[in-house]
Amino acid sequence: MKRYGHWINGTSSAPETREYLTSTSPGTDTVVCEIMLGDETDVGAAVTAAQDAFPEWRNRKPGERGRILSAIADGIRAEAGQLAELESAESGKPAWQSPIEVEGAAAFFDFYVGLANVPAGEFIDMGPGRHGYTVREPYGVVGVITPWNAPLNQAARAIAPALMAGNTVVVKPSEFTSATTLELARIATEAGLPDGVLNVVTGNAYGAGRPLVQHSAVRKVAFTGSVRAGREIGHIAADRIIPLTLELGGKGANIVFADADLAAAAQGAITAFAVNAGQICSAGTRLLVAAEIHDNFVDALREAAKQVVPGQTYGPQTTHAQFAKVLSYFDVAEEDGATLVTGGAAVDDGWLIQPTIYAGVTNDMRIAREEIFGPVLVVIPFTNEDHAIALANDSDYGLSAGIWTTDVARTHRVAAQLDAGQIYVNEWPAGLVEGPFGGYKNSGYGREKGAEALHHYTHTKFVLVKL
Ligand code: NAD
Repeated sequence: MKRYGHWINGTSSAPETREYLTSTSPGTDTVVCEIMLGDETDVGAAVTAAQDAFPEWRNRKPGERGRILSAIADGIRAEAGQLAELESAESGKPAWQSPIEVEGAAAFFDFYVGLANVPAGEFIDMGPGRHGYTVREPYGVVGVITPWNAPLNQAARAIAPALMAGNTVVVKPSEFTSATTLELARIATEAGLPDGVLNVVTGNAYGAGRPLVQHSAVRKVAFTGSVRAGREIGHIAADRIIPLTLELGGKGANIVFADADLAAAAQGAITAFAVNAGQICSAGTRLLVAAEIHDNFVDALREAAKQVVPGQTYGPQTTHAQFAKVLSYFDVAEEDGATLVTGGAAVDDGWLIQPTIYAGVTNDMRIAREEIFGPVLVVIPFTNEDHAIALANDSDYGLSAGIWTTDVARTHRVAAQLDAGQIYVNEWPAGLVEGPFGGYKNSGYGREKGAEALHHYTHTKFVLVKL
């Protein structure tokens, strides 16, 4: 069993004298590894290392930084098998899924290398006698805090653009799934990343996470996790007047119009809520269905749900608290008066839950308003397009929304009116690299992924020259 220390300044040590958290495979007693319980002093050491490494790293040519990021992508791919095994062991993901997420992590590094030499500023016409231009500059030390549902992928999606833009980074991964982020830092060092440019401090929310946000040398924070934690971090960031990217929860509305390819829509609706056992912020968990097809569509969903095999299609809930939370919503659904279509129970005591669908749901029920973060879908009928849009937007969240239709004009009309950061039309993908990703409303602000993420890891300087 491996015992991990933090990764600070290109190295790690794990002395007996320190306290460690034991990481076990979800729903089992199988110990995966131990990770060090970090504190404010550890965070301080990591931030100092990142601060010291910053001047040299930011002054490298973008192409030189890019070459190292390419080598990191190669390093991830060279160890893809072991990384995927470790990711599955800690998070409970099935064996088919982790390799896809590991490849996704490598793809983030590839993507930002491709943008290495894209102009990072613009010439501004000030008229005769003056030249104006902008430069996009890195912040310095960036703090990254990640959750447990896609640990390596979420770490890579913040680290890659932050490093490409010339920042140095300190990551605090989830206390439940830290191992692959620590391995990524080792791989990055072996790929030639200078010591101190990427550091990882493990531990819990208040021992390690909060001190990272509070540290005076951390100039920007990228947080992925719950609304509760996002709000707490937001207060600290406001006091410190530092920029923040918040990637928080969701309750994605997935709208099926009567003119859709209904077989594809039923299949897509299942994927949208069941992938990763529903432990995805961008899941499509509120299915809005045209009233005239509602009953037949619910039958189609019941049928399609039979293809979902818990334990194969998806794994267990990653934490016991999450398992208990999802089960508690089955009681809430009963209190709400919803009709169970399928599922509604645990498969076994290994934290596996049946794919669960409720019909007879109204948008004011708790199961329609709160993020459950499990394999639970609620089906709500709508009468016309305006009603569908109103229901979709009647949510505290605004991360992802879906539209199923064969009417092109309707696609654009509805997409324009939905309050959500991502709109998926006739599919519900997860884990893309190229498009900007982030929320409206309580789902957060700022964007990860895509070229736009680079803007969130830099600030703009305007230079005016009298000629
Ligand atoms: P969480 O908020 O409990 O924890 C996330 C991370 O933040 C962990 O590393 C934790 O230690 C740390 N943390 C928690 N409170 C903190 C605080 N006050 N100060 C500093 N650090 C703190 O979330 P979780 O249970 O790990 O993840 C599930 C949540 O994450 C869900 O709500 C889900 O929707 C959200 N999520 C969002 C996205 C996205 O991209 N929008 C992606 C995945 C998960």
